[in-house]
Amino acid sequence: MTILFCFAHPDDESFSGAGTAMRCAAAGAKTVLVTATLGERGKRGDPPVCEEADLPAVREHELRNAAAVIGFDELHLLGYRDRELADAPPEAMRRVLVSHLRRLRPAVVVTFDPNGFNAHPDHVAISRFCSEAIAAAADPRWHPDAGAPHQVRRLLWTPPVAPWDAVALDLDLAAQPGADFVIDVSAFRKRRIAALRAHRTQHLSVDRYFFDRPELDRIVDVEIWRQAWGPALATRPSRDVFDGL
Ligand SMILES: [Zn+2]
Repeated sequence: MTILFCFAHPDDESFSGAGTAMRCAAAGAKTVLVTATLGERGKRGDPPVCEEADLPAVREHELRNAAAVIGFDELHLLGYRDRELADAPPEAMRRVLVSHLRRLRPAVVVTFDPNGFNAHPDHVAISRFCSEAIAAAADPRWHPDAGAPHQVRRLLWTPPVAPWDAVALDLDLAAQPGADFVIDVSAFRKRRIAALRAHRTQHLSVDRYFFDRPELDRIVDVEIWRQAWGPALATRPSRDVFDGL
């Protein structure tokens, strides 16, 4: 089985997804990351880790380091402009994502929820493009030269409650709407932390949600996903993203 993570920026995969990817890989699945932009208009750190002109190259390097720590089998950079993803041509975006979906044939795809998790326009955009490409990939009338049709079995979204908030508020995730998958990734804690640390230019936000928090270990030990669609779950939350496939 293959699981495809489709995100907007370098570091999105380390905020949410790294633990699930490592757990799936340990169980024998192929894991692939698609990142749409280089986050080249993001922060550079305080003090700055690099010159502004070097940020795209530095962030690509950070992403490649994080992806190596996580152990993705493939990493694909789509090269769209940071903070302009919503304006990307839908036809070109659909074609590239349909090509990846038909070649990789993932059972599960993970992306941002339609509100982009934190309402970031690029997060909203990649959610929209990814959802549309999944539907198109299953229909042979779309891009017939881009491979044989493929039906994704399950689409997962980022959750309505972030792990750092769930831990801080001591929420009962079993009772939280949208916490459809609660994945124990504690076995991969050290590597999860290393992947977050790889994004050195993003240390301000990484510190804010992870390393400045006394509950760091509990935060990095869990990942939460919402099922957009897929086979009905016998119990919520499920503990396995391939549950029922
Ligand atoms: Zn992002």
